[in-house]
Amino acid sequence: MEDYQRKRYVAAASTLSKKLERRNFQPIICQNLLEAREQAMKIIDPDKSVGFGGSITIEQSGVIEELYKRGQKIIDRERTKSPEERHQVMKQALLSDYFLTSINGITEEGELVNIDSVGNRVAALTYGPDKVLAFVSMRKVYGDLTATVEMVRKNTAPLNAHRLGLQKTPCIKKGLCGDCLQTECICNTLVITRRSMAKDRIVIFLIIDEVGL
Ligand code: SF4
Repeated sequence: MEDYQRKRYVAAASTLSKKLERRNFQPIICQNLLEAREQAMKIIDPDKSVGFGGSITIEQSGVIEELYKRGQKIIDRERTKSPEERHQVMKQALLSDYFLTSINGITEEGELVNIDSVGNRVAALTYGPDKVLAFVSMRKVYGDLTATVEMVRKNTAPLNAHRLGLQKTPCIKKGLCGDCLQTECICNTLVITRRSMAKDRIVIFLIIDEVGL
């Protein structure tokens, strides 16, 4: 990333942090994904359980591997052996002590925008785990709510559809979102989190780097 771009992200992260605090979120500015991982490792109590939702940013950070190395109890759907077991583990993760996730888009005013397929990720963000740790690149601060929802729907979701190798959705066939209602559709729940009821329950790691989808 160019130096001028980094400087802009640093200034924007400082402005956004104040707006996130007003909404009862806990912002932590991190220079890169490694710093975000280290901060998350410090926050997570080694004796408590951790669940996580599907996220490229979380995957890229290596935080799950680090947690396994120190013997953390992890509610891990990736280690299940059948769709039914996976489903049950995803439900258990909603009652974990900590939940790791990413955010699809943030408005300049600090509202969180997420789109989800099954809905487990946004369910955990909304209610359940006592602490949610969310990694997000400053690249995902898209503007006002309309612009952010549009970017999440028209950019992030089609990218995710390609990543997951869907076959029949318009975004796969034409490269553009067709607002589909296909069986394979991954855009089933669109959630706007404008404030947290519990102060500091949701920790937002604002990453001064271009990571994730
Ligand atoms: S609504 Fe359908 S076409 Fe649009 S991004 Fe989602 S899966 Fe693709």
